Amino acid sequence: MPKKRKNRGRAKRKGKGREGYTYCSNCGARIPRDKAIRVERWVSLVDRQLEKELKKQGAVIFRKKVVKEYCVSCAVHYGIVRIGGYAERLAREET
Ligand SMILES: [Zn+2]
Repeated sequence: MPKKRKNRGRAKRKGKGREGYTYCSNCGARIPRDKAIRVERWVSLVDRQLEKELKKQGAVIFRKKVVKEYCVSCAVHYGIVRIGGYAERLAREET
């Protein structure tokens, strides 16, 4: 049977078995952990404008790591991943 995606849209290998679930940080949908789209961002607790000025004065600003896991539909909606035909995806991977 032909496959649409080599990895079937998730990171589950042959014989890997079941894995736990997580919840989408946006809509709360229950999704397999390996299917979730994980986004890590360093977020400053200080306002951006203020941070710039403080940095100019040589202050060290604490930055927090925020990890979010999205379901596929939310990731597509927020532009984290994009959909498209095989050729389109291939072209994106090359560049
Ligand atoms: Zn979601």
